[in-house]
This record gives sequence, structure tokens and C-alpha cells, in this order.
Amino acid sequence: MDKFFELIKSGKAGKLLPVYTWPHKILQQPAKPVTDFNDEELSTIIIDMLLTLTAHNALGIAGPQVGIDKQIIVVHIPYDENDKPVYLINPKITEQSVELFEMDEGCLSVPGYYEKGVRPKEITVEYFNEFGKKKTEKFVDKHAFVIQHEIDHLNGKVFIEHLSDFKKQRIKKKINKIKRQLNKQLKTKIFI
Ligand SMILES: [Zn+2]
Repeated sequence: MDKFFELIKSGKAGKLLPVYTWPHKILQQPAKPVTDFNDEELSTIIIDMLLTLTAHNALGIAGPQVGIDKQIIVVHIPYDENDKPVYLINPKITEQSVELFEMDEGCLSVPGYYEKGVRPKEITVEYFNEFGKKKTEKFVDKHAFVIQHEIDHLNGKVFIEHLSDFKKQRIKKKINKIKRQLNKQLKTKIFI
């Protein structure tokens, strides 16, 4: 099992981080790259993000969503053959397929709203792992979709940006309603 996963499952580490909802400004600005990989704080952040992700039954989470202005992503897609969390630091997409993949798209920062999302089916990502080791890896289907959604967060982009102002207003109202319940009712829906 993944060592960070083990730590949070055993209750030895990890704390629940607050989730920032759209249109908070931290979600609309680019996140800063991580420069110090020896920093103990980095593993603490990753562990806390993993715990927060798991508590919300989400598939992916990006630093800005939990108020951390750093290019860190945690993705965990359970019940998949590749059922291990992936930690991506300073990720960059270097290649993407023409073939597309469709999936219901939602977001922890936009609770209660879903739409059909279409994104490249396969991507190649250059990133640093949790030990500061540079990696190049190919991701497909759900993993590719969620990673693209999270990289958008690192670039200050939220998936509802293309919607009309009218629709965005409606979403804003709904978020405010849900926000009040969110902290009480964890483990309800699957968010991205
Ligand atoms: Zn999101």
C-alpha cells in the first residue's frame, strides 16, 4: 500500500483541510511551482490533501482548492486496477491525444454542479513525484481526465468558465446553499 495512504488510514497523520469554493480568488490565479523538495512541509501538505480528497470521496484535488498556493495535485481513482494515489508536483502536459474521452465532470470547489466533459483521452505529463524525482508518464482515460482537470486548477482555471453569466449566477447560489452543509455532510458525492 502507498505509504501516505497507510498513514492516513491508521490515523497517524493527516488533517482535513478547508475546501475553497468558486469564485474564491485563489481558484482564479496560477499556483506557484514547488522549489524545495526536501521540505518536510511538502509531505505534510500531500498527506493532508490525500486525507481531504478521501474524506470527500473525490477523485482529484489541487493545492489551490485547499488554500495552498503550490503546484501540487493528488489523484486517486479507487476501484481501478491502478488503485494507488498519484502525486504530481509542478506537472506539465507535454503531449495529448487527438482521441477524446468523455466523463461526468464535477469539482469539489463547485459542489452540486456536473456536466459532460470531453478531454483528450491520453496525455503525457512531466512532473516531480513526492520525493522530488523528475518523471515522465503517460496517463489514459479517467486518470488523464482528472489530471487535466486538476492542472487547469493550477493554471487558475475552473471547468465552469465557459458557461454564461446567467448560469454561473445560478451555480453561485447553489454553491452557497451547499457550502453550509458541506462540512457537516462529508462522504456524500463523488467530486473531482
Ligand atoms: Zn476541480
